Amino acid sequence: MEKVKNLIVGCGLSGMVLAERLAAKKKETVLVVDRRPHIGGNIYDYKDESGVTVHKYGPHVFHTNDKKVWDYLSKFTDWHYFMYRVKAVIDGREVNIPFNLDSLYKVFPAHLAGRLEEKLVGKFGFNKKVPILDLRLANDEDLRFLAQYVYEKVFLGYTAKQWGVKPEDLDPSVSGRVPVYTGRDDRYFQDKYQAIPAGGYTKMARIMLADPRIKVKLDTDFGEIRNQVRYERLFYTGPIDEFFDFELGELPYRSLNIRFKRFERACYQSGPQINFPENYDFTRSVEYKYYLDEQAAQTVVSEEYPEPYVTGVNERYYPVPEKKNHELYGRYRQKAAGLKNVYFAGRLGDYKYYNMDETVKRALELFEEIK
Ligand SMILES: Cc1cc2nc3c(=O)[nH]c(=O)nc-3n(C[C@H](O)[C@H](O)[C@H](O)COP(=O)(O)OP(=O)(O)OC[C@H]3O[C@@H](n4cnc5c(N)ncnc54)[C@H](O)[C@@H]3O)c2cc1C
Repeated sequence: MEKVKNLIVGCGLSGMVLAERLAAKKKETVLVVDRRPHIGGNIYDYKDESGVTVHKYGPHVFHTNDKKVWDYLSKFTDWHYFMYRVKAVIDGREVNIPFNLDSLYKVFPAHLAGRLEEKLVGKFGFNKKVPILDLRLANDEDLRFLAQYVYEKVFLGYTAKQWGVKPEDLDPSVSGRVPVYTGRDDRYFQDKYQAIPAGGYTKMARIMLADPRIKVKLDTDFGEIRNQVRYERLFYTGPIDEFFDFELGELPYRSLNIRFKRFERACYQSGPQINFPENYDFTRSVEYKYYLDEQAAQTVVSEEYPEPYVTGVNERYYPVPEKKNHELYGRYRQKAAGLKNVYFAGRLGDYKYYNMDETVKRALELFEEIK
């Protein structure tokens, strides 16, 4: 029977951070298994035959305000500085997302846009992120009109497609949080650090796993080796319900059918991401060469069709934010608390949507706990 100090299930960002820390700081041996044929989990990218770097599981842009996380990942990669700018097609026009002062002038007649700008800046100040809930509550017909417009045109269609439900069936706090920016900042994120690994995510992942104390086994399911490996600690970054053989029931996820297309032309669309809240059955169209500013004669685009997660058919992407699911997760968590030297982490282990920086932070904190 194979013996290791640490067994890590999942070679995504969570598993890789844990492996790297255990090997580098504690000088311990680590076996990382993943049932996929590649490292990196959902941040895996590869060069398409056109020469464009494609993100297999949907577009990933790293952003954080956490200097510790930024400095940590900077040990494994140089960065291609990249500030994300996203547009949505609304009433047939490409508009900045989040909706900002410039968006007003794209979709409304100038006199109405001017009046809305004056009222927004007058009431909330310049360069503020105002949730549409606050606009709805304002004692002003114009601002309430704007709240309804943004709700219907930006939020409603996109959300209905994304979750396959009516927005009112989702957590009500979510729709009210959709922001309008009372400024001209057209970036999707405002974080201090925003970038993409210069050589791609997979290269960064390879460097994170380079320590000779780390062994990686791909195409290997935890279930297959569970009884073949002796370990002192188990870090499980797979789905927590699966770990317990779904004995309390299955945690639902939303999935995506990401359809890739290659075009014989230099450029396909005006920027990296165009959202389609009102048109078509996909939510967004993504053109990959923008992310690393790659020059190629061809271009690669993906369209994302949201669909329910079905075991064996597609991937688990987004935990479904409903109370009963959080409760079910809580019950699994209680079972997990009863296990010794078994640690759950990551978006599947914690049944939580984490941005990459949150994923890294969570794994670094877990490492500190066990240290
Ligand atoms: C469409 C999409 C776009 C995103 N875009 C961004 C973005 O722009 N910016 C950002 O900051 N974040 C983004 N994220 C979030 C980011 O993907 C996550 O933060 C990160 O990938 C989570 O890493 P993880 O290791 O927790 O999970 P994963 O990457 O899913 O890794 C878990 C791994 O465990 C393996 N596994 C599971 N069960 C088993 C088992 N039984 N045996 C063996 N292996 C197993 C899986 O194969 C998988 O490789 C996005 C997420 C999605 C879904």
